[in-house]
Amino acid sequence: MTEKNTVPAMFAKNVFNMEVMKSRLPKDIFKKLMRVMQQGEALDMQTAEVVANAMKDWALEQGATHYTHWFQPMTGSTAEKHDSFITPAPGGKAMMEFSGKALVKGEPDASSFPSGGLRQTSTARGYTAWDPTSWCFVKEGSLYIPTVFVSYTGEVLDKKTPLLRSMDALSKTAVRFLKLFGNENVSRVTTTVGAEQEYFIIDKKIWDQREDLILTGRTLFGAKPPKGQELDDQYFANLRPRIAAYMQELDEELWKLGIYSKTKHNEVAPAQHEMAPIFTTSNLGTDQNELAMEVMEKVALRHGLVCLLHEKPFEGVNGSGKHNNWSMSTDDGQNLLDPGDTPMENLQFLTILCALIKGVDEYADLMRLSAASAGNDHRLGADEAPPAIISMFLGEELQGVLDAIEDDTVFRTQTKAFEIGVNALPSFPKDSTDRNRTSPFAFTGNRFEFRMVGSSDNIACPNFLLNTIVCEELTWFTQRLEPFAGKEGFEEEVKRVLKDVLKNHRRVIFNGDGYSEAWVQEAARRGLPNYPSTVDCMPHYCDDKNVEILEKFGVLSRDEIKARCEIHLEKYSKTRRIEARTMIEMARKLLLPATLDYVQTLCSSIQIKKNIGMTAVTEEAMAHQLSDLADAFYDAIQSLEQRVNKACEVSGIQAQAEAFHDSVLPEMERMRTISDTIERIMPRDRYPMPTYSEMIYNV
Ligand code: ADP
Ligand code: MG
Repeated sequence: MTEKNTVPAMFAKNVFNMEVMKSRLPKDIFKKLMRVMQQGEALDMQTAEVVANAMKDWALEQGATHYTHWFQPMTGSTAEKHDSFITPAPGGKAMMEFSGKALVKGEPDASSFPSGGLRQTSTARGYTAWDPTSWCFVKEGSLYIPTVFVSYTGEVLDKKTPLLRSMDALSKTAVRFLKLFGNENVSRVTTTVGAEQEYFIIDKKIWDQREDLILTGRTLFGAKPPKGQELDDQYFANLRPRIAAYMQELDEELWKLGIYSKTKHNEVAPAQHEMAPIFTTSNLGTDQNELAMEVMEKVALRHGLVCLLHEKPFEGVNGSGKHNNWSMSTDDGQNLLDPGDTPMENLQFLTILCALIKGVDEYADLMRLSAASAGNDHRLGADEAPPAIISMFLGEELQGVLDAIEDDTVFRTQTKAFEIGVNALPSFPKDSTDRNRTSPFAFTGNRFEFRMVGSSDNIACPNFLLNTIVCEELTWFTQRLEPFAGKEGFEEEVKRVLKDVLKNHRRVIFNGDGYSEAWVQEAARRGLPNYPSTVDCMPHYCDDKNVEILEKFGVLSRDEIKARCEIHLEKYSKTRRIEARTMIEMARKLLLPATLDYVQTLCSSIQIKKNIGMTAVTEEAMAHQLSDLADAFYDAIQSLEQRVNKACEVSGIQAQAEAFHDSVLPEMERMRTISDTIERIMPRDRYPMPTYSEMIYNV
């Protein structure tokens, strides 16, 4: 590695980060901008003007010719429109200019982005506004400016705005809450996120031959290969050369963009891998995860590979998630989910823990729907991913502590006995939890890991909903405890409240095997909601209790929530429609003709053999079997087409999504079963697409 290529030298090379700002901005402007970034102070145009100019000079040095406002509309992808810095100069020449106004505000046409009815097509105007709390960066010749996206009338049209709002609300709420425990100096609390990203890699040549992968991101046909993941020989296995080369380049590209890519390894399913960055603020973490997904896909292409981010590209092996590691940290350096080792710290920690327990129980529906999508429906509740039931894992030790609070007893570990009382709340070692891979929301020592989120999802939504839930609960505890703060008996009172909360909400805690059928029964007995699909959970977005907290903390208005709910449901219907039509097309153009061809070959062979007095037992048996299957397949194609057409005519967004879920999806599955049976019987050279073995064992 040459000096220039060392990781520290290449890290954030393409990012207009704090260090670059410090070296390029006048001192007062830099200070002002830091206040904007760190304390949420308003940005004035004069500052913006100076920053824009410095940014442009830096971007030009990095080879940029354009700038783009980069935003995260409700499509689920990022959006960008590029303008060059070019401006006419005297004498028919050109110069490069960038104004404060162009940095701060953009006016993209909003009419082609989903708004859920919030914005009439006649009022197409939308605004993007610079989000100075994230970093600008240069990529592919453009200066990327992270922005939020709102309509002309101010309604939120993107995923970032509610996240930023929720972070602000959480900061205010948590600062007030922390005062109860003597934290007078905390002035800002930030939520942090580390998103572990799972993905599949397959050969591009193979991908090119699968219309289902190209159009829908997942295989709609394909029989299970003889070998799946049962030997557990892929997880953490050594990296095959093409994968190793891919991962190395991926790391370098991510590092240049200022993403602390930290961990890489093979995942459980064949062809499945993971990249985990070091955590950062939820805001930056969200931008960086969106960017990471894009880079993962692009770098793969350079290696003749395709990166699949779909939640369930292959049946019969694990799907991909995005474990959303979440915590809160203060500006004086505390991680609020670190149990700590002094009694007061523990009391504060235990109260926050109970706030989370109460919140997750009361708003389980919001948590569930925050991870809902057509793709993730195939994963949640399948036997390799968390069930669709929301529960929390705390681990034995923490569970013991909470039990002791509830029962007024003394908590004992093997080594020490802790009194859960006024003066001596327990001190527990950092790694007080075991791992539980089956829980949707697991405590992992100093953070919670929300494991439901789908691999292709934008993490803004799960995070702003979680933040809002936490706002609500911290507010509840603050109001309940403030009258006792700083007084004698405060700790006793806290203990009383915790005890109460635990009694009412302990049902959401489950430390056992979340993948088992027994848990489904047990959860039902406990009265925990179980929404298996997007269609079941999404309408709860608009439940009064949910609207109430989102409005209360200024995260989303009722209209905005309704719009989001509709966008998600519409997307569900469209996804299923595309999938079903892709299946029909592949069946008619490829699979059925191939089957019939082979039946014909068999029949000719039977004829020829019989003509010369031979028997053709095998051919006859196979011809009959395949011919029957072809009939059933043809019937399924016709019926699926009818069902899709019928579902398309259903009026009402919810009703239509239900039609796709209840009528179209089962027929897609029936059709696939028939096709997969045919595949198992057909000779390889007659089956017209790459098989599962070829897709997942090829790289
Ligand atoms: P594992 O797969 O064993 O759960 P990884 O190392 O793959 O662990 O991922 C853990 C993730 O959690 C990393 O992205 C890490 O940065 C993140 N993380 C650690 N501490 C925090 C925290 N306080 N807040 C948010 N994320 C965190
Ligand atoms: Mg991991």
